[in-house]
This record gives sequence, structure tokens and C-alpha cells, in this order.
Amino acid sequence: MRIYDIITKKRYGNNLSKEEVEFFVKGFIDNTIEDYQASALLMAICINGMDDDELFYLTDAMVKSGEIIDFSEVDDYIVDKHSTGGVGDKVTLIIIAIVASLGVKVAKMSGRGLGHTGGTIDKLESIEGFRTDISLKEFKKLIEINNAAIMGQSREIAVADKKIYALRDVSGTVESIPLIASSIMSKKIALGADIIVFDVTVGKGAFMKNIDDAKLLSKRMIKIAHKYNKKAIAVITNMDEPLGRTVGNRMEVEEAYNFLDGKYEKDVYDVSTTIAACMVQLAKDISYSEAMNLVCDSIKNKTALNKFREIIQSQGGDVDSIFKREQGYKTIDILAQTDGYINELNAYEIGELAVELGAGRIKKDEKLDLNAGIYLHKKYGDCVHKDEKIMTLYTKKEKVVIDADKLFKINNIKPKECSSVYMRVNDEY
Ligand code: URA
Repeated sequence: MRIYDIITKKRYGNNLSKEEVEFFVKGFIDNTIEDYQASALLMAICINGMDDDELFYLTDAMVKSGEIIDFSEVDDYIVDKHSTGGVGDKVTLIIIAIVASLGVKVAKMSGRGLGHTGGTIDKLESIEGFRTDISLKEFKKLIEINNAAIMGQSREIAVADKKIYALRDVSGTVESIPLIASSIMSKKIALGADIIVFDVTVGKGAFMKNIDDAKLLSKRMIKIAHKYNKKAIAVITNMDEPLGRTVGNRMEVEEAYNFLDGKYEKDVYDVSTTIAACMVQLAKDISYSEAMNLVCDSIKNKTALNKFREIIQSQGGDVDSIFKREQGYKTIDILAQTDGYINELNAYEIGELAVELGAGRIKKDEKLDLNAGIYLHKKYGDCVHKDEKIMTLYTKKEKVVIDADKLFKINNIKPKECSSVYMRVNDEY
């Protein structure tokens, strides 16, 4: 078999066989296929797509390129949740507590933030003493005891994805639904959960820029999950503006805690309860509305809050440290220049500003300022008066470049209401 022939076949829009896809993945990992050949094939896939069989072959070859986590010793279903990325996205912190408080076992291996999107592991590391570098053995034990555990994704999972993604990043081949689906699913399948709920974000701060593409990506990921006999639902959510009031690691954990303590923003509530209800629905095999009732009750009666405290303490975290605002921060208020309504609060630009403040990283392994961040006084659709605060920035950086025109738009027309959850995509869709 020759990679040249495989590239040519895909260039003409023909379907690749299992053997051809495996030959590519294996050859790329062991360096017998060069980067320029792999990028040519990735570009042909970008242009001509992949059918369901090819997509499964690619995902499966990537799954098998690394370690596969085995939860077979756990009797109950293991549930996982994946977000395609967002700004101010504290949903994972919230739903883990809700779902675990309802007796559903959640295994969450999370990553760090990169670019304008945040990562759950960075957020959790803002809690004093919280250990994310636990062993797989401890991870499984904590799931048995607490129904939930969160660890950093340090293991050699889907090795091929790491190498292929790095090449996609520099060869203009990131934006391809089959390549995104195989990349996400190779990691999710290798992580071993029985049930996966996807938060597919759409909008200015997300990978997917329109609902149709998000729907397509959701359907393709669900189909792959089913091939592995896993249950899956995708929730398509709005990421035009940041979720909730805060962007920044410690600030987001504080907002998550306050949420579970009954003080929440509507957008965070709608997204979190929908995703949690999907997880509970699949794990308990009940209707969505029954699951939603359980989820809302666990927030109302604070069982989810108690579970959140338990999860933090079990991993060595000091709950009180969540509320410790470190001294020595410069605060910068960004004010409205005119009266009107917030017509846009740009999630991407606000995420980039958070990076500039020290709350996010541009390069892998960059150290973060876990207390830096942004508080949003106003959200999309809010009425503002000239000189009112739109947002406050917290930073230790001496110099920060701010282009307020990119961050938000004020108009004298009240914008139309926009929902935070667009739709659920499930088996029957
Ligand atoms: N997230 C991933 O893990 N892979 C992609 O290709 C895009 C988003």
C-alpha cells in the first residue's frame, strides 16, 4: 500500500477502506508517512469529507493508538460530558455536583485552557490544595465513594489525535466536521465512559459558527458513540457571549459555588440543567422531564452543593479558599460611552482579553494567574446608561491593551431575546 495512492483516491472523492485508513494513522505515528503527505490527505478529507464507515475507521484507529481506560469493574453506568469549548464556561463544575448528588457516576478527565477558551483543570487548581494529578486507581476509588472525580488528562490517550491535531493546526485543516468528530470521539471513547453528553457550543466564542454545522457535528459524534454501544446526546448551546458573569479561573469556581447555593444567572442555569438532565435521563433510563425535575430539586434542596463540597474536599481542596480574593490586584472598570442596550458581548474578544489579563494561556504549559479575570456587570440585552460599568477587569499586569469597541456593542434598539440552549440532538433525531 502507498500513501500516494490513498491521497489520490481521497482527492477524487472516493471512500477509503479500513486498511487504508489504518495504514495512514499507523504510518503517521511511526513517522513512515511524512507531515506533507499527511497534510495533503487531511486537506483532501477537508474538501471531500468522509462517510460514516470511513469516519468510524479513522476514529477507531486513533482510539487504538493510545491507552484505553477500562471501567468494566464498576457495575453502574459511567457518565462523561464534553464541551467543544467556551468562555466563562463553568458548566462542568456545576453538573458534576448535580449528577453525582443524584447517584449517577461521573468520570471527568479534563484539560487545560488554551487560547480564548478556559479549561476545567485550571479552574480547579485555583482551589487551594485541590489535587488534579491523581492516579487512575484513586480516580476510580473516588468515583466509587463520591460518584464523581476529576483528573487532568495526563495519560497517553489517543496519541494519533495529538499528532494529527498539531498538523491540522498549521495546515488549515481544523475546520472539518469529520476531522473534529474523530478527534473528539477518539479521546472520549478511549476514556471509557458508557454515556457521553456533548455540549456543542455555537457562536462567536465557539468552534462552530452556525447551528446547522453544530447539528451535523452532533449527529456524527452520536453515530460514532452508538457504534461503540455507548449512549449519547448532544446539547447545542449559545456561545456568542460568555456564560454567566465571570471569566477567570477562581472567579468561575466562585460563580459555580454560588450557583449551587441558589444564586444563579439564567444562561448558566438553562445550559447546566439541560446537560445535567440529559446525563441523568440516560443513566437512569427515565424521561427527560423526570430527569429535569430531579436536577432542579437537587439544586433547590442544596444536595448538589453538599456534593460539590464533598468532591472538593475528597481531592484535598479547601472550600473556603474559593472565596479568598487575593490582594494586590489592579481593577479596571470599562464604562458605557453612551445610553442604550447591549447588542453584543463578544465571547471570543472577552476570552482573548482574559488571556491578556493573565487568566488564560497562548502557549501550552504557560503559568496562569488564577485570580485574574473579568466580571460582567451587564449581559446581552441589558439596558445601560452612559458611564455605567459594563465590566471590571482584575489583573496584576502593569499594562493591558483594551479595545472596548471589540468587546461589546451598544445600540439604542433592544435586541431580540436569544436562548442559551438551542436544541437537544438525540438518538431519534
Ligand atoms: N476539539 C478537539 O478535541 N478536536 C478538534 O478537532 C476540535 C475541537
